[in-house]
Amino acid sequence: MYHPERIRHPDNCPSLVLNADYTPLSYYPLSLWPWQTAIKAVFLDRVDIISSYDREVHSPSFNMKIPSVIALKQYVRPSEYPAFTRFNLFLRDRFACQYCGTSSDLTFDHVVPRRAGGRTTWENVATACAPCNLRKGGRTPREAGMKLHVQPIRPTTWQLQDHGRAFPPNYLHDSWRDWLYWDVELLA
Ligand SMILES: [Zn+2]
Repeated sequence: MYHPERIRHPDNCPSLVLNADYTPLSYYPLSLWPWQTAIKAVFLDRVDIISSYDREVHSPSFNMKIPSVIALKQYVRPSEYPAFTRFNLFLRDRFACQYCGTSSDLTFDHVVPRRAGGRTTWENVATACAPCNLRKGGRTPREAGMKLHVQPIRPTTWQLQDHGRAFPPNYLHDSWRDWLYWDVELLA
């Protein structure tokens, strides 16, 4: 019988990495390790194998199915607040312009403009599309007659993770589905 899983290239067999409590280390981007890293962690006794691909890798001393889901043995405590990065800011705003809601041509807007003393902080920067940014110019939302969809806040790591669950990756191995429950939520 033809088993596409058995001939899958190892480089197409990433391992989903779960924390010791069996939640993904990260949803978006999804916490994935290349197979070499996963197998090394198995041999270092740092992870448990939860599920495996049918695809095996061979060396002179061992044969092993590539792990598809692994769990860290030691719990990694996420920091309470995420780093202030462009990616995290887009994720906080769900990749949508906070003025008109579009998800294309996204940039950042200083809500209180820099020339008026507005700082580059979680609380003063919002995702905005280029046309809205241009329209607003160097004005406050009130001056420009534009309304922010949500007042910007400094998110917690938990809030960002929650937003990330709304963005499933292109590739989902069957064995991952039990650990990533957005499809369950969508059906519910
Ligand atoms: Zn816009």
